Amino acid sequence: MDIEKASETGFCFGVKRALRILEETIAEHGTVETLGPVVHNQQVVDRFAQLGARAVERADQIAGGVAVIPSHGVSPDVLEDLASRGLKVVDTTCPNVRRAQSAARDLSQAGVWVVIYGDPRHPEVKGILGWAGHKGVATLDSRTVTDLPDLPSHLGLLSQTTRNSAQYAGFVGSITGEVLSRVDELRVINTLCNITKRRQAAALELARRVSLMIVVGGRHSANTRCLADMCSSTGTETHLVETAGDIDGAWLEGQSAIGVTTGTSIPDGVIDEVMLKLEGLKERGGRV
Ligand code: SF4
Repeated sequence: MDIEKASETGFCFGVKRALRILEETIAEHGTVETLGPVVHNQQVVDRFAQLGARAVERADQIAGGVAVIPSHGVSPDVLEDLASRGLKVVDTTCPNVRRAQSAARDLSQAGVWVVIYGDPRHPEVKGILGWAGHKGVATLDSRTVTDLPDLPSHLGLLSQTTRNSAQYAGFVGSITGEVLSRVDELRVINTLCNITKRRQAAALELARRVSLMIVVGGRHSANTRCLADMCSSTGTETHLVETAGDIDGAWLEGQSAIGVTTGTSIPDGVIDEVMLKLEGLKERGGRV
């Protein structure tokens, strides 16, 4: 039985950058507070909590003097609120997310109603909608837009950075097909993250060649869930695990080949532990 790791795993550049800025900020200020988890990975959040980074859910819970904005960004009204309270704001928003925020702001300022293909509950998506001045909607269902009785005449489509490109294309196609005759303008902007795209393509290719896929990542991480859904869509048995401890030896029984991929918030140490556990289980014929 072969065990193969996908060609790209571990932290993406946006997460590495955010963690480097956070480390520097802690070194300079001691204790800091992050608005939400700095990345969607509990092990990373726990490690930074020990160093002095406390995660809070809402801006009004920030009690110290330094507020760190996570890699998935926030809306401008949150930034303005923090600045008006005299807090030092350290912004680790990923440049790819910033691109989507700027696109939303520019569209909105041009009088274009913004449609974001993404999970409306996700912090990145809420932030992007904020940059559009909340003049738009976030959804994964094209009917949210096509069924609108009073459709705005100027529409702009963009995507949550970590979405699947084929699904975004399908969303764009559905909306275009339904509403083109009802609007004056329809703009489409590609705000997908290239790193996510490459990782999804590599995971899909691997999932088609193996009988079992292990996706390592946070259960609340959008890019990890998207990876798991894509691997599963190939028909290959797929399990999402947060750590090596989540792996069940019974999954390996009767398998011919195992593939491993990871979300973008996974430290190399966690991946090494997963690979070690799988190799150990292989030696013991899948028994724990
Ligand atoms: S997955 Fe892409 S958009 Fe998200 S933090 Fe990483 S590089 Fe940035």
